[in-house]
Amino acid sequence: MSIQVFGQPVSRGVAIGRAVLVASSRVDVAHYFIDPEQIETEVARLRDARNEVAAELVALKSEVPEEAHAELVALLDVHLMLLHDELLSDATKQWIVERHYNAEWAMSAQLEVIARQFDEMEDDYLRERKADLEQVVERLLKALSRQAGTGAAASSSAARDFAGEDPLILVASDIAPADMLQFKRSVFTGFITDVGGRTSHTAIVARSMDIPAVVGAREASRIVRQDDWVIIDGDAGLVIVNPSPIVLEEYRFRQRQIELERAKLNRLRHTPSVTLDGQVVELLANIELPSDATPAIEAGAVGVGLFRSEFLFMNREGQLPNEDEQFEAYRTVVQAMGGLPVTIRTVDIGADKPLDRMSAHELRHEHSLNPALGLRAIRWSLAEPEMFGEQLRAILRASAFGKVRILIPMVAHVGEARQVAQAVERAKAQLDATGHPYSAVELGAMIEVPAAALMMPTLVRHFDFVSIGTNDLIQYTLAIDRADESVAHLYDPWHPAVLQLVERTIACANEAGKGVSVCGEMAGDPAFTELLLAMGLRSFSMHPAQVASIKQRVLRADVRTLQAQLGAVLAAESPLEASMALMKMRPH
Ligand code: PEP
Ligand code: MG
Repeated sequence: MSIQVFGQPVSRGVAIGRAVLVASSRVDVAHYFIDPEQIETEVARLRDARNEVAAELVALKSEVPEEAHAELVALLDVHLMLLHDELLSDATKQWIVERHYNAEWAMSAQLEVIARQFDEMEDDYLRERKADLEQVVERLLKALSRQAGTGAAASSSAARDFAGEDPLILVASDIAPADMLQFKRSVFTGFITDVGGRTSHTAIVARSMDIPAVVGAREASRIVRQDDWVIIDGDAGLVIVNPSPIVLEEYRFRQRQIELERAKLNRLRHTPSVTLDGQVVELLANIELPSDATPAIEAGAVGVGLFRSEFLFMNREGQLPNEDEQFEAYRTVVQAMGGLPVTIRTVDIGADKPLDRMSAHELRHEHSLNPALGLRAIRWSLAEPEMFGEQLRAILRASAFGKVRILIPMVAHVGEARQVAQAVERAKAQLDATGHPYSAVELGAMIEVPAAALMMPTLVRHFDFVSIGTNDLIQYTLAIDRADESVAHLYDPWHPAVLQLVERTIACANEAGKGVSVCGEMAGDPAFTELLLAMGLRSFSMHPAQVASIKQRVLRADVRTLQAQLGAVLAAESPLEASMALMKMRPH
């Protein structure tokens, strides 16, 4: 039976594929297809792992005296029984043989199938055996990871062409932003998560992959079953599970239409971005990894407006990247951009971007404090002066290879501006002492806290440029957690308070003769292009995939006409009125 689930739309388009359910704690399991001739080897890996775990359990059993620990011995027997159960061994093998999944992926896919069966059991005792099953699978996954050559197989196969396999859609309760990143250029053609808002960082990373995704789909990971066919309607935020043939055909048709539209838009890639009345508009890229730089250029971006450097710091089990490692990453981007400006944001750790593998959901539930209002972004950097110094030196060193700008996240006080300026001077002095070259680097502030927007006339004097982080500005102005799907309907970029703060920030920066850009999701949303142009914005930073659509809007805009309508939008009393007033701005 076909079922529909609604969530938050993340990236536009349609994805159709088979569901791959992944437990949030297992997203780091390698997912790759194997070649048909590797099937036997992969099945043998599975068998070896099972033998190894069986030996482990038998040895454990022999070490505990039964008289003293009868319960433990009984538990080990249950584990041994589960290990040899056909439902685990034979069915896992089928995923390898029929679907060409690697052994780890096959194992976790089958675990999800059996866990679902356990969940549905009436008998409490049997239902509780799910935890035992998870422990057995954990042992098997560990045994697989110990096998020689595993990593090499993963990396060679991950790169291969997947033509001929069914497209796959990842379904999980929650995925941490850094884990999402590891799915870039992976086997998945779409994503669905139960939790998250449109501008949660998980959603932002999914959007940067330019594949359809829906977050905050609440019950999706419970409703969808392993291997079900699903459709993601990325425009509507809709997931259709087991669609009827007619619906499937309709969506396949829409998929082809979208591809044609994209191909048309792509032709604009190298057209200069100038409005009808001759205003030049800079379209920059938001990136998360050094490897995103080349795709940004290919998409037609004329620089990097936001390099979210914190992704270099995540999931490293406390081993933060040192100065040299960071320098290499920044230099790679600067060189790839070949003289175009690269804006590196200093780490924005905290809120829904924890340092270690922990989803935003866990973060909220395990730490009752509100992380979005805590030691985040520049507050964290200033509290860790050693780490901050290392990052500043690494960025400054990269400036010797091109045009680099430093961007400070979440500035709220003039005092922070002063502390940052001192830290930059200290970093320069240290580089002078060690003889490392660097060039002139502009220093910018992200305006993403209402206090900063209200303080603009003063704050702007301390910086060379500002960049408006609308994602957080909306969160903090409206007091709506951007990662919380239960209040996602109240997260409204059209709220008059938000529009007034954005307008004020742009106007203050322009008056002061300082550069101003928007690097939040608003910049990549074509619904806001005319409005931001009318407010005086000439620099937009977005996911590379958005550049062509925004350019299309810019090419059709006449700023003088738009400006005449701006007053009506800013005077709106409600989000609805504001968006209606904007409709009147649009060229017909
Ligand atoms: C923002 O807040 O708008 C922004 C660009 O930063 P991030 O999304 O990484 O918080
Ligand atoms: Mg932000």
